[in-house]
Amino acid sequence: MKSRALELGFDAVGVAPVEPLEARAHYEAWLEAGRHGEMHWLASEQHRERRADPSRLVAGIRAVVCVALCHPPDRDAARDERLGRIARYAVGEDYHRIMKDKLLELERWIQRELFPGSGSLWYADTGAILERGWAERAGLGWVGKHAGVLSEALGSWFLLGEVLVDHELVPDAPVAERCGTCARCLDGCPTRAIVAPYQVDARRCISYLTIEHKGPIPRELRPLIGDWVFGCDVCQEVCPWNRFAPPAREARLHAASLDGWSLARFLTLDQPAFLELFATSPIRRADRAGFLRNVCVALGNRGELEHIPALDRALSGDRDALVRGHAAWALGRLVEALPANATARIRAREALRLAADADPDPWARDEAAFAASALA
Ligand code: SF4
Repeated sequence: MKSRALELGFDAVGVAPVEPLEARAHYEAWLEAGRHGEMHWLASEQHRERRADPSRLVAGIRAVVCVALCHPPDRDAARDERLGRIARYAVGEDYHRIMKDKLLELERWIQRELFPGSGSLWYADTGAILERGWAERAGLGWVGKHAGVLSEALGSWFLLGEVLVDHELVPDAPVAERCGTCARCLDGCPTRAIVAPYQVDARRCISYLTIEHKGPIPRELRPLIGDWVFGCDVCQEVCPWNRFAPPAREARLHAASLDGWSLARFLTLDQPAFLELFATSPIRRADRAGFLRNVCVALGNRGELEHIPALDRALSGDRDALVRGHAAWALGRLVEALPANATARIRAREALRLAADADPDPWARDEAAFAASALA
């Protein structure tokens, strides 16, 4: 079964016996503290019950087969320059689609060759299962202080998937935690979202804020986001174990072509164009308004004055209040360092005052008024 999993392109495979997971208590405490932000489904009764008892997912479950699939460990600085930073796992095709293809094939092979007639179910970030807890139990790695799984062999640039089976399999031994006294991820996090070892407060996490969070990004966090437009890799970039990360074998996870696109051009995307451009990309998950909100924040933080016209157009003409409000913030941030009599600053203030009076949305009006007042 392991050979078959590796043949299918997975980079590691391990087996966890079905026993109560220590990770569960930790996870419940995280939910109790409200650190899941607006991901309310994680705290639902149904989700909690299923997570606590995997036999609700597969009757008679005896083992969890855990797999890891490596995504690219490197960045393309020239691409980042044009597009803003996109988390490495998200530069190619949506990993859910890739995992689904591979896990389905593994599941079918188990049902056909290994345990004919058996019951099983696959997961890849798709359901009520403690993926990291099972991966740790299956010996794929340990949960690091940044709350992700990492290993000596793979570092942490990998994605997780599982097949739950109703037959016994020889379990793998968990590996020892190797973070030691290191705390680089806690110190390196731009928004201080890792509030204690193994405790990430999603409400401050750039990944959460740029993907799952659907409303305005809190004003005090916007400057800390830099030019991340979808996800964030900082806690993994600083991790010493990633010096040993292997290249990604899976071609579909390599960067998709976005030739001709730039941060400013992203602001011209209407809904159909957004859906077409990101048809197979995980970026669809942020929705058009969320992604363009992130683009505005990135443009504000990059401080490049040539982007004033693009933000101006978004401020006055975007169909989403969320985008107009963040364009207001970004425009104000771009010109705030200019002298009070600089033409660009005076024009930006006028545009912001106009939006503060005329925007149909009260929140966007408030953002524009706030940005205009900072330039007064
Ligand atoms: S940066 Fe250090 S503390 Fe954080 S996960 Fe890596 S080894 Fe562990």
